[in-house]
Amino acid sequence: MKRPEICRYCGGIIRLVPASSVYGASAHRLGLEQESLYQCQNCNARVGCHKGTTKPLGNVANEALRLKRIETHHIFDAFWTSRHMTRANAYRWLSQQMRLPAKETHIGGFEMDQCQMVIDLCTEAAGEEAA
Ligand SMILES: [Zn+2]
Repeated sequence: MKRPEICRYCGGIIRLVPASSVYGASAHRLGLEQESLYQCQNCNARVGCHKGTTKPLGNVANEALRLKRIETHHIFDAFWTSRHMTRANAYRWLSQQMRLPAKETHIGGFEMDQCQMVIDLCTEAAGEEAA
């Protein structure tokens, strides 16, 4: 993923900032104190980075997309933990299902349609087991 420079929503300038400048005191609790993120200086659209790097997980997200990414994460995490899968296996399964390379399978970088695909995959897989 290329480093974002211009905001796709408003055309504002995107800067790499410490996560603590966005999350404040919560950065510690969230385990993000050492992490960075890309943030539009105009509209606050943002995206996180691959852990310990300044490589963005995907494109910057406005509030609607950030909420969708969070919701998707909750559903996916609940899905694989309830099946007693390991995190590594869960992400392998997801990248296969979505036909994406493992290094691009990061919900934090997904678009709306990809988030919905994850939710649908989890719902369908859970439904098949119950049937
Ligand atoms: Zn913007």
